[in-house]
Amino acid sequence: MLRWSGDGVIEGHPGAVTQPTSRRQLALFNSMLDDYTDELKNLRTDRNPARWPAVTRYRAPHKPFLLLTVFDLVAQGILQTSFVEFNSQLVDGFDHYWLKIMGTSRLGDPVLPFYHLGTSRFWHLVPIPGREDALSAVGQVRSTSKLRELVLGARLDDEFFKLLTVPESREALRTVLFEAYFAPRVRPDLADLAQIAVEASQYATELHRRVRQRFELRETPAVEEQYRVESRSTAFRRVVVAAYDHTCAMCGVRLRTPEGRTAVAAAHIVPWTDSHNDDPRNGIALCGLHHWALDQGLVGVAPEYRIAISRVVPTDPGAEPLWSLERRTIHHPADLNLRPAHEALAWHLKHVFRG
Ligand SMILES: [Zn+2]
Repeated sequence: MLRWSGDGVIEGHPGAVTQPTSRRQLALFNSMLDDYTDELKNLRTDRNPARWPAVTRYRAPHKPFLLLTVFDLVAQGILQTSFVEFNSQLVDGFDHYWLKIMGTSRLGDPVLPFYHLGTSRFWHLVPIPGREDALSAVGQVRSTSKLRELVLGARLDDEFFKLLTVPESREALRTVLFEAYFAPRVRPDLADLAQIAVEASQYATELHRRVRQRFELRETPAVEEQYRVESRSTAFRRVVVAAYDHTCAMCGVRLRTPEGRTAVAAAHIVPWTDSHNDDPRNGIALCGLHHWALDQGLVGVAPEYRIAISRVVPTDPGAEPLWSLERRTIHHPADLNLRPAHEALAWHLKHVFRG
C-alpha cells in the first residue's frame, strides 16, 4: 500500500493534485486509495476456464484492459478530466492490450466493459440528454451504435480521477489490476504496454515538431536508442493516419468500424530500414492494397503528386484498383505541411518503383 512520506507538489501532469502534506490529508488520501483498491479487486467479470486462459486467471479481461487504457490516457495527459469518452483512442489502447495478452485471435469488444463497468461504484455512465429513461430501461448494450445512441460517456469519481493523476497512486492501482487479473508471467508485458503508450505520445509530439524543420531523407538512428519499435510505430501511425483523416491517399477509401478502427495504415515512403526516418513527410496513409502496391513498387507518386503506375501492372479488370489511378492526384492531408516530401517520393521512384 502506498504511504506518502515527503511533501510538495507532484509535477508533470496538468491535472496533478498537491501531494497530501498534513496528517489528516494523508489519512484521507490513503483511505481513498484503500477504497478504490477494493473496488478494483472486486470487478465483476466472467469466470470460465473453458473460455478464458490461465494468463487472465480464467477470467474475462475486458474490464481490466479498458481500465488500464484509461490509466494510460491519464498518464499521457490525454485524459485531463474525469469524463471518459468512448473514442478511437480508448479502443486503440484496449486493442493493444488485447493483442499483446490474448494473441491475434479475434479482437475483444470494448463496448461491453464500457457499459458494464457501470455496475462499479467509480464508473458512472452519462446518458445523452433526453435518453436517461431509455438507458435505464435497456437491459443490455451490446453494440457501439447502441452505446452511442444512449451514452455520452462515463464519469469517474472525482477522488478516483485524482488518484490517477498522481503517478504514485496510479501505479499502485495499476499493480492492483495486474495482481488481481493477470498471471505473474504477463505482468511485465502489461507494464511495457503502459510505458509504450506514454513513449508513443512523447514521440508523436516530437514528430509534429520535426515537420517544422527542413526535411532530411535520413535521420540519425539515435532515435532507436531512445524509443522502442512499438512506441515509434504507434506514434508514426497515429500522426500519419490522423493527418490524412483516415483516408487512403491513393484511392480515397475512408472506412472505419463503429468503434473507430480504421482501414488505413501509415506507410513509410523510404522504408525505415533505409531511412530511419519517421518524419510524417516520409509517411503516407494507405489502405492495405495500396500499401502493399507501394512497397512492391507497383505504384509511386510522381512530381505534382500524380500517381504513377508501373508497367508491370496488367491492364486487365483484375488490376483495375491500380491502373485506374494513373495520373490522378493523391488525396492530400488537410495540413499541407504534412504532405509527402518530394525527396522521399523521388527516392521511392528511383529505388523501389518498377518503371
Ligand atoms: Zn487505397
